[in-house]
Amino acid sequence: MNKKYKPHLHNCPLCGRLFMDTGLGSCPKCYEETRETEKRVIEYVRKYPHSTVKEICNDTGTDVKLVTQMVQRGQFYTDGLQYLYPCSRCGKPIHHGVYCSKCLGRLNKAIKEYNDRANERKTVAEDEKKKSRRPRLHWMESTEK
Ligand SMILES: [Zn+2]
Ligand SMILES: [Zn+2]
Repeated sequence: MNKKYKPHLHNCPLCGRLFMDTGLGSCPKCYEETRETEKRVIEYVRKYPHSTVKEICNDTGTDVKLVTQMVQRGQFYTDGLQYLYPCSRCGKPIHHGVYCSKCLGRLNKAIKEYNDRANERKTVAEDEKKKSRRPRLHWMESTEK
């Protein structure tokens, strides 16, 4: 465990009880329960690799949020399970993350383009600022003389 992590008291996000957080993120009881649930979900997926997230939740009594988290973390995949679920954008089957590699590539490109444009805008804005500041500076200089 991370040595830099400072244990602190806070409320368990799952049950609301106050506990000493040593890096688990939830109280020891909920942590145990979550691990148990995850095991159950993984067992289920091992048995029925073609089930949907909804079926997993219904049949194992698990919260959709937890299963989705597990799926997106690639937990099934790292466990050697070929669990496939649809890409959030195009619906193509993927086994980890939120998007397929194609959509991810497009997304990254879009982000890059957006950032480039934002940078351009920033440079333009800064140029404008410099330009608008210059005449005033001149004006101040001339009045001081
Ligand atoms: Zn708890
Ligand atoms: Zn996709």
